[in-house]
Amino acid sequence: MEYNRNYPVRLEIEQAVELLLQKVRKVSAEPVSLDEADVRILAEDIFAKENIPPFDRSPLDGYAFRAEDVAAADREHPVVLKIIEELPAGTAPSKTVGKGEAVKLSTGAPIPPGANCVEKFENTEFTDKQVKLFAPMKSGTNICRAGEDIQKGDKVMETGTELSAAQIGLLAGLGYTKVRCFARLRAAVISTGSELLPEGSELTPGKIRSTNGHTIRSLSRRWGMETKIYGIVPDDQESIARAVASCAEQADVIITTGGVSVGDYDLAEAALRQLNAELLFWKLGMKPGMAALAAIYQGKLILALSGNPSAALAAFCMVGRPVLNYMAGRREYYLKKCQVHMLRAFPKRSPQRRFLPGKLVLQGGEVWFDFGSRQSNGMLNQWAGCDAVAEIPAGSGPIEKGSLVSAYY
Ligand code: AMP
Ligand code: MG
Repeated sequence: MEYNRNYPVRLEIEQAVELLLQKVRKVSAEPVSLDEADVRILAEDIFAKENIPPFDRSPLDGYAFRAEDVAAADREHPVVLKIIEELPAGTAPSKTVGKGEAVKLSTGAPIPPGANCVEKFENTEFTDKQVKLFAPMKSGTNICRAGEDIQKGDKVMETGTELSAAQIGLLAGLGYTKVRCFARLRAAVISTGSELLPEGSELTPGKIRSTNGHTIRSLSRRWGMETKIYGIVPDDQESIARAVASCAEQADVIITTGGVSVGDYDLAEAALRQLNAELLFWKLGMKPGMAALAAIYQGKLILALSGNPSAALAAFCMVGRPVLNYMAGRREYYLKKCQVHMLRAFPKRSPQRRFLPGKLVLQGGEVWFDFGSRQSNGMLNQWAGCDAVAEIPAGSGPIEKGSLVSAYY
């Protein structure tokens, strides 16, 4: 259908991302227990209210004493110190170490007052009552200082950080049981196309099993989203509009695939117009992924992607991902970019910017880009195991093996 379009047609992917960033909102925040905090995004800065470790402690099993006492010690003239206390980990010192005295320590035990160094037990000779030392020690040797890991008052984590395993551990160490995180971004996926059958169906003439719903659901969940498959909808304007309206009640983002090109049965735009959605752009300057439409409906972002599996993924990764990262609360929401060497030649010309899925491979200290030799819009298999998308600039001829190109991940 020919429309009178008052929104941009064919944006560069960067322009599309900026436009969408202006139109979307971040999700709200909620308290999240540490047990549920994996891959969640912090919605508060974390300041340390305490030191980690909270006290000076011993990193090994041994004896704590005053370095001054062993200044003259050597093999022939060992110094003998009296053991005044034993401190297993978890106990607090009750005595101050004086001249000629030592305290027996386990790893993790606090350094008793008066002592200023620790010798590991392997370097000593000892009985229950005394310990013999054979070498001088510098004051401060073998003492882990309070606050060595985290200093009280430090900003330890920033809003917008995706919590890593170590950070969840640090939160526990700092005494947190819950932290404020952004709510999980909720998405719904609608697969449009009268040729589509759900998984598990017997194939009938002209039909295919839908893959897009599952691919997009799985990928977006890996990005930390809470995504549901709405299901399959035929190429029918009413049905598409109904599906979008229904998803908008529960999801922050609706991703549709199929029906965004120029054919008679490409009805996504008509359905969105019927709903009075605010259309933002149509078509992207990329191959695959050119056919794509974005809109806002009832405050929800609609990404209407091509039905071609590879095109849907290319647009979803290159344009959708940074915007979804932003909505989910991530501080660094743009894709990361690096320079990679092409692992093999790419024989086709690229009149438009072309995006190739592939794998980053470390070889000879350089990052190389491994990609399938068969690339086509309709093919999903080329995305299997892919961890980056390389860009071949518009206007390129065939690309030689070893050429440097940009890759996004
Ligand atoms: P369309 O974007 O509707 O023109 O569809 C483009 C191509 O992608 C056609 O060959 C469709 O059969 C195919 N296709 C559309 N939707 C899906 C889907 N959910 N899973 C797999 N292939 C699809
Ligand atoms: Mg179609």
